[in-house]
Amino acid sequence: MGKKRILSGMRPTGRLHLGNYFGALQNWVRLQDEYECFFMVADWHALTSEWQDTSEIAELTRQIVIDWLAVGLDPQRSALFVQSQVKQHAELALLLGMFTPLPWLERCPTYKEQIKEISNRDLSNYGFLGYPVLQAADITVYDAEAVPIGEDQVPHLEMTREMVRRINHIYGEVLVEPRAILSPTPKLLGYDGRKMSKSYDNCIYLSDSADEVTDKVMQMVTDPQRVRREDPGNPDICSVFDYQKILSKDRLDWIDKGCRSASIGCVDDKKLLAERLNALLEPFRAKRRALEANPQEVDRVIEEGNARARAAAETTMRRVRKALNLPEN
Ligand code: SF4
Repeated sequence: MGKKRILSGMRPTGRLHLGNYFGALQNWVRLQDEYECFFMVADWHALTSEWQDTSEIAELTRQIVIDWLAVGLDPQRSALFVQSQVKQHAELALLLGMFTPLPWLERCPTYKEQIKEISNRDLSNYGFLGYPVLQAADITVYDAEAVPIGEDQVPHLEMTREMVRRINHIYGEVLVEPRAILSPTPKLLGYDGRKMSKSYDNCIYLSDSADEVTDKVMQMVTDPQRVRREDPGNPDICSVFDYQKILSKDRLDWIDKGCRSASIGCVDDKKLLAERLNALLEPFRAKRRALEANPQEVDRVIEEGNARARAAAETTMRRVRKALNLPEN
């Protein structure tokens, strides 16, 4: 029996940062061993918020693929592709839209949240409201059996499952109902102590140089009560310590005790963190440099990924068109 399929994607709205790596990519690299993976740069999804200025989407799409390859996504095993290059996503989204009652979309918690949170973009468009329908098409067009997501995406996936149940109830087993592979999302703040976000300009990017990483780590916000070197600190409220829980598991005891007793300073801790981060990122940088020197290789990976994705999506669409009594292409 072949491997089961998964689908996941990222919107090309900025360069990839440590939050993307520890929250998703690291897990994707592992999932390649177990699943047939389709990884999508969701450029159409980027348009839901970036529709007034699309000038950076194509370049960011390419940069994301370079980051993916640099961290270890393997194009031999996984299809790395661009959503807009597989038109079947749009066709299935249109059809799924017919099966989606409007209140499902209006009640979606992330829709309401983002309308409130993202005040610097006009999101009052049909595309943004219909985001979960396109997302359902992205997943089901590959017969994906599972989707690696964070807790916040669960309501969207639940809506996908409801759409699938609805269409299957009327037309038989047309689409595969996907389940969630919940990946723990580590709490990593930006180096200014706020949520890591490109709009706050506080991210440590996978493509940052060693000096940039060290510089950002040295600026990281720590326990605000620890003002002087001799003040004891509390690692439980320090964002540097949150990073160390991932990067310096072998030194946590030293940091915890040293911080509470003031036998180490924040600079000692940050130096260790910068070292560990740079040790992690250096192989990614080397791979990135090699890919930047060989742009044809990146083009080839994207073209092959698009072709594989198209073939898989078309197989599903033939089945869907037939079930819905629509003419074949
Ligand atoms: S020593 Fe480390 S854990 Fe303690 S406050 Fe400073 S940076 Fe944070």
